[in-house]
Amino acid sequence: MKPLVVTIDGPAGAGKSSVAQRVSRALGLRYLDTGALYRALAWKAIQRGLRPQDTRYIIEMARATRVELLPQDGEQRVLVDGQDVTEAIRAPEVANLASPISAIPEVRAILLDWQREFGRQGGVVAEGRDTGTVVFPDAPVKIFLTASLDERARRRHKELLERGIDVPFEQVKLDMEARDQRDATRHIAPLRPAPDAVVIDTTHMSLEQVVEEVLAICRARFTSEVPPST
Ligand code: C5P
Repeated sequence: MKPLVVTIDGPAGAGKSSVAQRVSRALGLRYLDTGALYRALAWKAIQRGLRPQDTRYIIEMARATRVELLPQDGEQRVLVDGQDVTEAIRAPEVANLASPISAIPEVRAILLDWQREFGRQGGVVAEGRDTGTVVFPDAPVKIFLTASLDERARRRHKELLERGIDVPFEQVKLDMEARDQRDATRHIAPLRPAPDAVVIDTTHMSLEQVVEEVLAICRARFTSEVPPST
């Protein structure tokens, strides 16, 4: 039997991580935050003083890097060459470099293999930008989460403050807009819903409402029983 795969894609701040973590717990599936892979490489590139235009070095670096995602209480720890960078990769400058790095085809190819191998090991709730279009095109459930730019920036601003990172709201919004634009217009694996994805606009929805809707879609698609969320 093929492993159950749920993909949750969408722009930054649409609520993918919170929703994907809760859905994975409710369904007893592993959680895969694919953005963390791009952030992990961006983090290492920053340590090495690499810039977005240093494509050749970034590709060499990506080939020689061991990224591990370790599940922990429904969340995940991120290790780069054995070093725990779970918190460090959330910094805004890491996100800003992850976006141009993710537009390099060789980098995407390396991480595509990584993600598919992860998927072969069992059921998964994967979140990112192209998990429904490219990584797991046969997934039985594909979700695309969106929300207005203002709402997404508000959520990300709050999340950064909670992590002790104080960036002005307008800066968060500008960074997010630039990142969305780059992610949506790149040639390879651009951010867009898969043709068979269910698009959910979460602007006026609570996290619980979104999780319930996604679980209802899963229940309708999966033949097996899915336990109710708690
Ligand atoms: O989701 P997150 O904000 O952690 O992703 C960081 C960046 O990684 C995104 O802006 C995007 O450029 C890239 N990414 C990607 N494909 C994915 C996940 C993330 O290109 N599946």
